[in-house]
Amino acid sequence: MSGDAMTSNVRTEPRTILPGATIGVLGGGQLGRMMALAGSAMGYRFVALDPTPDAPCGQVAGQIVAAYDDVKAARELASRADVITYEFENVDARVAAMLMAESYVPQGSELLYTTQHRLREKRAIEAAGVRVAPYAEIRSLQELQEVAARFGFPCVLKTATGGYDGKGQWVIRGEAEIEPAWGALGEAKTELVLEQFIRFDKELSVIAARSPRGEIRTFPTAENVHVDNILHLSIVPARVPQSVQREAEELAVRIAEGLNVIGLIAVEMFWSAEHGLYVNELAPRPHNSGHYTMDACRTSQFEQHVRAICNLPLGDPGLLTPVVMVNVLGKHLEPVVARLSQPDEAAAKRNVKPSLHLYGKREAAPKRKMGHVNVLASSVEDALAWIDETNIWKV
Ligand code: AMP
Repeated sequence: MSGDAMTSNVRTEPRTILPGATIGVLGGGQLGRMMALAGSAMGYRFVALDPTPDAPCGQVAGQIVAAYDDVKAARELASRADVITYEFENVDARVAAMLMAESYVPQGSELLYTTQHRLREKRAIEAAGVRVAPYAEIRSLQELQEVAARFGFPCVLKTATGGYDGKGQWVIRGEAEIEPAWGALGEAKTELVLEQFIRFDKELSVIAARSPRGEIRTFPTAENVHVDNILHLSIVPARVPQSVQREAEELAVRIAEGLNVIGLIAVEMFWSAEHGLYVNELAPRPHNSGHYTMDACRTSQFEQHVRAICNLPLGDPGLLTPVVMVNVLGKHLEPVVARLSQPDEAAAKRNVKPSLHLYGKREAAPKRKMGHVNVLASSVEDALAWIDETNIWKV
């Protein structure tokens, strides 16, 4: 979002939006779909703006088929909705400015402006009194050489904007990789940031919700396992000391307060037993690592988001059962559907309940997120044993 959009960042007085009202969602992917499913159960109506006809959210709500930066279509969304939210952070600056001026966007645009850019995001996290991995802005090859020498190898070069699921980053393992990394990322029309490599023991995340009344609740800390930079598992309770879980949740509260969050904020962190917690990045929306809440918590992250933006009292985020969320990518879809369409003796024997959520996407590209399974069990070890036994996630 450009600086100009920010000048119109006047957050209007909070309104309480009651059931029966219509919630407009920028983006019609799986996050919008699950938000609409939770919010519809609460009595809200939904309309999404998304360029793909019959998008995941459009299958369960109204849809305006148009590009995300189509200001005319966004104006139509505003006219059909009582409140506007979003399911991704790269909202077009002109669309955001128009919506702020002409509609009710309780989340404001400042948080989007901050989290769209890694350097702005890191500065905001530090201003909230929370630690990030040591980093530096990189403006030239020479600067990259100097800072890499100071940080040591490996270190991680990232584009400030536009990266997700590991795209737009390069782990520099030695001096010989400095020039190739600069060649690959230096051409991106965005600033670059170099980070020290954190030798973490676990990746954790916490999702916090904050409402306009100032109420804040956090979901239990999740332990996340990535494969090829894509989230594979979220394990809850996280297998770290309880004091670390508590500290992670406290950091998320500090960030939600410090950044004046309305709605959800997902806080991704690294934990090293030796050095403690570092925040890696933020997402101001429902997050893949919070999908476990749909079956395992008293309130799901999607219901909580709707509660927060509508200024309702927040729900109880308490954990009902140990759970492991496992993502279903395109390459897993067929075997997962085949397995879970039959009685599952192995699951019964272990007292494990796999709960399948699918997003309704037509094209099952091998690495595309098609759904997830929340595996409820008496212990996360039982859930992990069942996942392992299925042999589905070994490819
Ligand atoms: P990101 O796009 O920042 O979420 O990074 C994707 C993944 O790369 C993270 O989940 C980590 O596994 C790894 N990674 C990113 N930055 C660092 C770092 N500074 N130190 C160690 N691993 C990192």
